[in-house]
Amino acid sequence: MNLILLGAPGAGKGTQAARLQDERGLVQLSTGDMLRAAVAAGTETGRQAKVLMDQGGLVPDAVVVGIISDRIDQPDCKRGCILDGFPRNEAQALALDAMLVKKGQKLDLVIEVKVDEQILFDRIRNRAAESAQATGSVRADDNEETLRNRLGVYHAQTAPLLPYYRAQGKLRTIDGMQTVDDVARLIGLLLDAVK
Ligand code: AMP
Repeated sequence: MNLILLGAPGAGKGTQAARLQDERGLVQLSTGDMLRAAVAAGTETGRQAKVLMDQGGLVPDAVVVGIISDRIDQPDCKRGCILDGFPRNEAQALALDAMLVKKGQKLDLVIEVKVDEQILFDRIRNRAAESAQATGSVRADDNEETLRNRLGVYHAQTAPLLPYYRAQGKLRTIDGMQTVDDVARLIGLLLDAVK
């Protein structure tokens, strides 16, 4: 079972993907987490990605497509994966389709987690405050200006994937403004409905 969680930054995709990983044995593949790991490790990819990430822009397609393709080949992804933050534009979606065909796999479901964007600003303020309290540091892209940029990128580049997946009959939309438990329950129902 391969699944995409699609939604604006801050919609809760990462939280839900981590839950699905724990509860269903699917592997969470977050390009954002992988890129942050590359930044932390100080690799060349990480160095180049950091500037773009801090501004809320997209890292080049070839970089994220390569990272995902390599990761899907790992044995733990045999049961399936949850793509969290990938694809983010049409070129990445086309690359994903082609890569899955080549690997003899398929995409089963795309779940759009829909949220009220004004609430996203509230969430990002809370997340920054919680992170500052827990770790003494805040993700460099956790601020309102970056969120505004990231939402702009989402609307311009990622939201056009919704009709793309709708046309494939794979898109389902859920209300991401409910509690984490309720959103998880809805996602679970959608997964159970896939044969
Ligand atoms: P995320 O944790 O998914 O919100 O991603 C954080 C940042 O990493 C994004 O704002 C982008 O700069 C970069 N990023 C993550 N995934 C992708 C992707 N699929 N394509 C391009 N850039 C990405």
